[in-house]
Amino acid sequence: MTATDVKLKTYLNYINGEWSASETEETGTSYNPANKDEIVGFYQLSSSNDFDQAATSARAAQKEWQKLSGNVKGDYFLKAASILEERIDDVATTMTKEMGKTFPEAKGETARGVAILRYYAGEGMRSNGDVIPSSDSGALMFTSRAPVGVVGIVTPWNFPVAIPLWKMAPALIYGNTVVIKPASETAITCAKVIECLHDAGIPSGVVNMVTGKGSVIGQDIVEHPEINGISFTGSNAVGKQLAHTAVSRGIKYQLEMGGKNPVIVANDANLDLAVEATISGGLKSTGQKCTATSRVIVQNDVYDKFKEKLLKKVEEITVGDGLEEGTWMGPLVSEKQLNTVLDYIEIGKEEGAKLLFGGNKPSSSNAAIGHYVEPTVFEDVSPNMRIAREEIFGPVLALMKVDTLEEALNMANDSEYGLSASIFTTKISNMLSFMEDMDAGMVRINAESAGVELQAPFGGMKQSSSHSREQGRAAMEFYTNTKTVFVKG
Ligand code: NAD
Repeated sequence: MTATDVKLKTYLNYINGEWSASETEETGTSYNPANKDEIVGFYQLSSSNDFDQAATSARAAQKEWQKLSGNVKGDYFLKAASILEERIDDVATTMTKEMGKTFPEAKGETARGVAILRYYAGEGMRSNGDVIPSSDSGALMFTSRAPVGVVGIVTPWNFPVAIPLWKMAPALIYGNTVVIKPASETAITCAKVIECLHDAGIPSGVVNMVTGKGSVIGQDIVEHPEINGISFTGSNAVGKQLAHTAVSRGIKYQLEMGGKNPVIVANDANLDLAVEATISGGLKSTGQKCTATSRVIVQNDVYDKFKEKLLKKVEEITVGDGLEEGTWMGPLVSEKQLNTVLDYIEIGKEEGAKLLFGGNKPSSSNAAIGHYVEPTVFEDVSPNMRIAREEIFGPVLALMKVDTLEEALNMANDSEYGLSASIFTTKISNMLSFMEDMDAGMVRINAESAGVELQAPFGGMKQSSSHSREQGRAAMEFYTNTKTVFVKG
């Protein structure tokens, strides 16, 4: 498919229950990173006026939506979940075409989206307050949860089904209405998710989607007077800017940002398990996960053996179009991201790290047409190097050697980030000290750094997050405010 030989679909904004074109009459183009000449479709480059309509419609719908009982709200989710499940192949194909992750990964993520909707449908039926004994024996005192109001949601491209849903579903089930601005790279995938909610009959104005530039719509989301809270996932630079405005307006905000996630391999580790998990955690989704493994800190006694096993597996990785069977690792999302990764590889070499594997675009013929890079492994990486400190967001592993576990833990904690961290060890005492001393929101033992379960709190420490938690019951903290109710008969 190219722009000239196929009539491509233009995706619209979703405002007040209707699909509508932007007043700008301008569109952006979504390209396939596996084949940069292939256009996936077009999305609206919206204006602040478009956003204003979406925010106004969300406001108008909020009180009515809040009043619906949890099971009625949840029924819309259950219907939308079934529709998304029926469309799983189409949604996953679109995801692979827009951002490059392999089809099995995209299908797994879409199935996760279905599960998120089902989970939060049930959440609407759970208790959300406490009865508190009053000092007045004739009174009833309890807490209940009130929705924040209209929530603005800004999402990145790397999980274009799961992240919008793990923000929208709790926001909605607790009685908020939402306006979402997805990343432009994956605007069409998000439109297909919204279509499921629309086809499930969710009332007009409850969910709104406006696509366009982050610098326009992203900024509107945090500045618009009808927006009472903002949930953002993306880079630190943008997150901090949004937080600044949110603080000045006194609205709630939640940020999930970057990571520089370490894996420690102890002398007593099961090395085969550690190798599998390092490869899966570091290189799946082409390393474009906030929880991706990037620093691999290995104890001296097992370093050579671990390195040998790791390289043997990395050599077997097949790079290609994520829709082709047999592809293990797809392209990076964009040319910009490819250049960023290639720049970091050069920086690593200049800083004196030793390139053990990869470091280039692959030599195969189809690699020339997509944003491909080889899986890349460095060793002799020291903690002060930029490739050990900065988030690369690509398939680059930095091996670091240590004598003791204490040294390993200090190195793992020597980062401005604190999202996810793993240790591979068979000793309980090592596990306990890692659990206790590792400064990360997600602490994982004998498991890859990149695992997330929808029913458990998710988020980071330090610069990785604004310290609130997403997913599971923890999401209620952000999407509601506590009311203390005192009743005297
Ligand atoms: P990004 O910050 O460039 O974009 C994220 C979103 O913000 C997009 O929708 C974008 O259009 C919007 N945006 C851009 N500029 C804006 C502005 N000035 N004002 C308001 N909104 C604006 O990030 P990205 O490149 O899409 O995603 C990659 C980043 O996301 C990485 O740093 C990664 O670590 C992070 N991430 C974090 C998590 C997590 O849960 N911690 C999950 C996934 C991705």
